[in-house]
Amino acid sequence: MQELKNLMRDLGIVGAGGAGFPSYAKLAEGADILLINGAECEPLLGTDYILLRDELDMVLQGILEVLANTSISKAYIGVKAHNAERLGWKDGERLAEGVYARALPDVYPLGDEICLIYEATGRLVKPGKLPITQGVIVYNVETMYNLGRGVRFNEPVTSKWLTVGGDIKSPTVIKVPLGTRIADIFERLNIVVKEGYTVIDGGPSMGKVINHQKYAVNKTTKGILILPDNTQAILSKKTNGDLAIKRAETACCQCTRCTDMCPRHLLGYPLEPHKMVRTSMGVAEVMPEMVISATLCCGCGVCESLACNQGISPRAVIDNYKRLLSKNRLRFDKNGEYGVKPEREYRMLPYKKWMSVLGISKFDKDISFGGEINDFSRVELSLSRHIGIPSIPAVKDGDVVKEGDLIANAADGLSLPQHASIFGRVTLGNDKIIIDKVR
Ligand code: SF4
Ligand code: SF4
Repeated sequence: MQELKNLMRDLGIVGAGGAGFPSYAKLAEGADILLINGAECEPLLGTDYILLRDELDMVLQGILEVLANTSISKAYIGVKAHNAERLGWKDGERLAEGVYARALPDVYPLGDEICLIYEATGRLVKPGKLPITQGVIVYNVETMYNLGRGVRFNEPVTSKWLTVGGDIKSPTVIKVPLGTRIADIFERLNIVVKEGYTVIDGGPSMGKVINHQKYAVNKTTKGILILPDNTQAILSKKTNGDLAIKRAETACCQCTRCTDMCPRHLLGYPLEPHKMVRTSMGVAEVMPEMVISATLCCGCGVCESLACNQGISPRAVIDNYKRLLSKNRLRFDKNGEYGVKPEREYRMLPYKKWMSVLGISKFDKDISFGGEINDFSRVELSLSRHIGIPSIPAVKDGDVVKEGDLIANAADGLSLPQHASIFGRVTLGNDKIIIDKVR
């Protein structure tokens, strides 16, 4: 296993669909299931679907490499039922030796690791624990694709697949060099961001608002969406945290709907957003343990966009508590007996209903593959877009590098190296390495 860990680290592989956790650090003894997250939890994104449709062979190569180097004998690729149908997969179908398709319900939020593991394997990760405690390691589809390419071609991660979608004529998945500026992609695709629109990195539920003039593709960019400001998807992202807390303190009627519908609560987690809303920030600052269960929230936004009819955002309140707890280095770590609530079965949120709640149903169109675009004149590679310690530059101003060259070393501890994604001349920036194409 150590050899595989070293390989994943040397190739610079991070979780391609989440927060950017270095993939090598997830490999641990004690797992018996490898679960590939192809749930594409967020609406309007189609990156994993296109990868599974067009590059399954490379994804399987990565999966088989993990199976060959660990004690894991079985892998599942989890996709939503409607995508399983489009891929022509049946639930339980064998895709390769030890690798099976898993058709998951069309509900939100399924890409959340805890929900995904429960749906795909029937195992419940206890609150505050890691998937490995239930013998499961979860990787994203593209993470396995990157490993597959690394094994087959000895190639580090230098490119990214992403969906460009939202309120545009033709949503598309493209493959571009890491560090490509979003403004350059828009120019290439003839996309103009009009007044009254916002650009986000990620899905409409959990993606982050970005300034597309200054932002570049990184290893976790799954999609770039352009959405009207008046959709719930964007309104919820622009909620002012302080205002949200004030409103929560005055307007909450304690109806408990936010708790009743919370996906983590329905899995039996001791997370009760209505109680979070009832607790004031002043009290939490004095006794942060009172809001310790805030760390169990996956940030799905169901409490805010669907459950609450008083315009309160329990998610924004909880986000504040999360920051407070992180500052105090506190996280939920209580042992106990936890069980899935029986009402979960009929409270799961259909995916289409979620799109309608977010006001984005009309942007749900067929997504095509627009091919690889790799002739951009500049890339900007961030040194800190993975969880852990930033990479350390291994090049200096004026150096000429070619695609795949090492340009930054991993630091000691949890960290990753970085590689050039185009041929060009280096300029060191603040927390990034810029490469301008040499003509
Ligand atoms: S749903 Fe809204 S009003 Fe009801 S308890 Fe939650 S925050 Fe309060
Ligand atoms: S965002 Fe709200 S609904 Fe989602 S997990 Fe957190 S508390 Fe529960």
